[in-house]
Amino acid sequence: MADVVVIGAGVGGLAAATRLAARGLSVDVLEAGPRVGGKLNVRVVDGVEVDTGPSVLTLPGALDAMFRVAGSSLQDEISLREPHPAFRYLYPDGVALDVFVRPEETVESVRTTLGTQAADDFAGFLRYAARIWEAAAPHFVYGPAPTPATLARGGLAALALLPRIDPLRGMWGAIRARVRSPHLRWLLARYATYNGSDPRRAPATLNCIAHVELAMGGYGVEGGMYQVARALARAAERAGARIHTGARVERIRTSAGRVQGVETADGRHWPAAAVVGNADAAHVLDDLLPRGTARRAGAEPSMSGWVGIVRARRRTGAEARVAHTVLFPGAYTDEFADIFDRGVPPAEPTVYLCAQEACHGRSGWGEDEPLFAMANAPAEPAAGPRDAEAWTRLRETVIQRLRSAGLVAEHDTLAWERTPTGLAREFPGSRGSIYGAASNSPLAAFRRPPNRVAGVRGLYLASGSAHPGGGVPLCVLSGEAAARALLTDRGMEP
Ligand SMILES: Cc1cc2nc3c(=O)[nH]c(=O)nc-3n(C[C@H](O)[C@H](O)[C@H](O)COP(=O)(O)OP(=O)(O)OC[C@H]3O[C@@H](n4cnc5c(N)ncnc54)[C@H](O)[C@@H]3O)c2cc1C
Repeated sequence: MADVVVIGAGVGGLAAATRLAARGLSVDVLEAGPRVGGKLNVRVVDGVEVDTGPSVLTLPGALDAMFRVAGSSLQDEISLREPHPAFRYLYPDGVALDVFVRPEETVESVRTTLGTQAADDFAGFLRYAARIWEAAAPHFVYGPAPTPATLARGGLAALALLPRIDPLRGMWGAIRARVRSPHLRWLLARYATYNGSDPRRAPATLNCIAHVELAMGGYGVEGGMYQVARALARAAERAGARIHTGARVERIRTSAGRVQGVETADGRHWPAAAVVGNADAAHVLDDLLPRGTARRAGAEPSMSGWVGIVRARRRTGAEARVAHTVLFPGAYTDEFADIFDRGVPPAEPTVYLCAQEACHGRSGWGEDEPLFAMANAPAEPAAGPRDAEAWTRLRETVIQRLRSAGLVAEHDTLAWERTPTGLAREFPGSRGSIYGAASNSPLAAFRRPPNRVAGVRGLYLASGSAHPGGGVPLCVLSGEAAARALLTDRGMEP
């Protein structure tokens, strides 16, 4: 009998497995898919491996800490890249603004492109975003899941925290109050989408995401983002965990309010004293547990996305594509009205493009390079999949916008795509949402499922749909938090 079964070999599952195995527990990781990585994954397209999930790595320190648990380090496992420039933002009025990994360079770029007032506002905004991060991160990111009660117990110190994390104002309102340039307002509001939220409704606390990428750094990974998944799997195995792919869990067995193990699709029983669910929290709690065992607070799902891999003729010299390009639409906030108010794919989406050779040093096909294209989209309706026609229209709009902007040519081809319906199918319980619940209210952080499941002893959650939320580094921290809760419950030093 294993001490722990982990359901899913996504980032959170691998991180939890590493931490638990390194503490001497016997750990089996059961992954339904053919490869580790979950949403952080790859496909082989026309014989070439391409990334199909994340393209920016932030907070690499979270990964470093995890690798160190298993006796290596970030430096030993992966090489970070600092593409130069990192991002190019293209606006409908023809403005092109370059953003760099180093904040001083970005401030100078803002000064050259948008003027001194914009550069001063931008630098001031970065200071404000840094203050939010410093105040919020220990409680909402690195600590255990917060509750209004734990914050209240913090007394005066917690009260003093409130104005610093700016939770009662909206993100968009706070940006407009601090930054006069409409171009910068759009750039900064876009960070709400880094956890799949709506900048018009998200609390201003989320402005700290701008600090995380613009000041702390958003990196590429040599050889592709999937090197992170490979390295996490190596760390888990080095610590002693056993990873089984093609092993879909169909049921979590419980008795008298305590987990007993899981059952896989092939009928095999895996007895275990504890289970860590890395699959979406909705799948773990609603589909895998016996009905009525645990209650899940219904939460608004974060955004989904249409993604495609374009096989494009490589450009070189002054024509070379930059690592990340963001092509804004005519009116940025209309996209969020479509997605969150009307629940439909955006009529005119912002299009994100990652040139994987420039960003990650991947190599494409002969004369062609792989471009990862993405447009935000609503999660699937609770009632079931949307009409496929909606995604056909979105795909055509994306390709048309890329062509009109000169980013791809008529002869470049769409070599692979995944719609939100495909994402929902691949990640059960997610409805295609990328980051779990949306952070569209000041109380959203308190509604995220904590890492310890109430009412089922021995059951824990480690994923982007649990505390502290989605994105690669936060999922690593989710795995850490679940492992800490489990070790504490077993009376072990976490
Ligand atoms: C298109 C896209 C772009 C993104 N861009 C970025 C980015 O630039 N930067 C960033 O930091 N993050 C980004 N993200 C988010 C990031 O990839 C995710 O937050 C993170 O990878 C999710 O990890 P997780 O721990 O929640 O596990 P998941 O990735 O959700 O993996 C869960 C695993 O559980 C398995 N599973 C599910 N059910 C079962 C079952 N019953 N039995 C066994 N196994 C099961 C699944 O197969 C899967 O492997 C992006 C995601 C996507 C999809």
